[in-house]
Amino acid sequence: MLVFKTQDDLKNHLNSISAKTSSLGFVPTMGALHQGHMSLLKQSLTDNDITVISIFVNPTQFNNAGDLDNYPRTLEKDVDIIRQLDASVIIYAPSVEDIYGDHPVATAFDFDGLDKQMEGRHRPGHFDGVGTVVKRLFEIVQPDRAYFGEKDFQQLQIVKKMVQKTGLPVQIVGLDIHRESNGLAMSSRNNRLSALERQQAAMIYQTLQTASRMFPESPIADIKEYVTREFENHDLIKLEYFEIADVDTLEPVAEYLPGKKYRAFIAVFLNDVRLIDTISLN
Ligand code: AMP
Repeated sequence: MLVFKTQDDLKNHLNSISAKTSSLGFVPTMGALHQGHMSLLKQSLTDNDITVISIFVNPTQFNNAGDLDNYPRTLEKDVDIIRQLDASVIIYAPSVEDIYGDHPVATAFDFDGLDKQMEGRHRPGHFDGVGTVVKRLFEIVQPDRAYFGEKDFQQLQIVKKMVQKTGLPVQIVGLDIHRESNGLAMSSRNNRLSALERQQAAMIYQTLQTASRMFPESPIADIKEYVTREFENHDLIKLEYFEIADVDTLEPVAEYLPGKKYRAFIAVFLNDVRLIDTISLN
């Protein structure tokens, strides 16, 4: 298995194997890998001659120091999981200095408002951090295709916008959410849940499914009231937000317009563990 810790070593290797004349797929992650990440890797392996995965906990996208400190870091285990899938995958696991030099700061982006709602509203600066690291990683790896999960749907739309605005020659591929058997969306943060919490967290997706069944017959206000009530009655899981938004603008809407596409978005806390999920509505 090839595990590169510096961009210089990675670039030298990619040059030596003529990566420029082959198709290169790229899967950016923050590690603590699970089957959701693996589904992105599998698609990249199917579509491309060469696949690179990055494992980097990006400090500039965390608006909460505790969340950054507590984020699971399991590089050895991650390397093993990737080896079991396909030992040809190239791993790039840089230090903060390798990506940012001495100053890990985010650049400010104009995402045409896509960053103003939901995750952007509740995590100030988060998407500038995401845009900064994804742009740097794209410049280093120079992929033909890059794979992102719809689990972070707002991030997926923002990365597409960044690519469109910067003109970087990479195709962004979005893939379905991978779930536990009880419906809980797989997430590295699930590692921080107790067995009981994991079990109870199944109600997040169940609530989204009910919301999606109510749509579009029930008014959006009624759907929001239903979701709010479900969590008011829950002693373990607290609702941060629930929104129904237009998939193109990500603007939360109060009314459904025929012909437009909508998704529901949710963020909750189980103690200090923050989880997000999303479902397509039509
Ligand atoms: P992360 O390591 O959380 O930054 O995620 C890396 C990539 O994996 C992102 O594109 C995520 O959207 C994607 N991802 C995370 N969880 C899942 C999941 N449960 N199903 C599919 N993709 C996922």
